[in-house]
Amino acid sequence: MKLEKNKLLVAIDIDMVLADNRPRILGNLKEDGSIDKTHFFDAGSVMKDLPIEEGAEKLREIRKKYGLIFLSARPKIIESATLEWLKKYHFLEDGDMLKLVDTSEAKIAELLKLGRSLYLFIDDLMFNYQGIPKPQEHIIAALKEAGVPFVEFRQNWPEIMGRYFQKS
Ligand SMILES: [Mg+2]
Repeated sequence: MKLEKNKLLVAIDIDMVLADNRPRILGNLKEDGSIDKTHFFDAGSVMKDLPIEEGAEKLREIRKKYGLIFLSARPKIIESATLEWLKKYHFLEDGDMLKLVDTSEAKIAELLKLGRSLYLFIDDLMFNYQGIPKPQEHIIAALKEAGVPFVEFRQNWPEIMGRYFQKS
């Protein structure tokens, strides 16, 4: 996978933007309500995540002008399952890149490496999907502080497309 040079980049999160992983979260809960990671990242289990509506179509639109980087806080052991999943639901195309990092915080460092090549980062920036989801306030604050261009995904593709990807 190689990014085309000279194209501005869009970085996009996977979980709860492209993939609905809530059934996998609810299926792997400990009694205290935290996620039991023993089987959470099994390839077979990851492959069962369902795609979120509209995503593939919107990525096709975005790709006309921008390079795409899937940026996800998932362990490296599910990199190939993640690629397979992205292909299965037509999210991944030649020229796209996948970058896995350990934590949401680590995404910020990756985004900063892209510097001015980064046009937009799209991420739900939420946690606690096993209960009432909450915004990742500290990540949002850090992104603002670092001057990273980002948008919070709220099942709002039409709004995102209208605001950032106007056809011209
Ligand atoms: Mg997410």
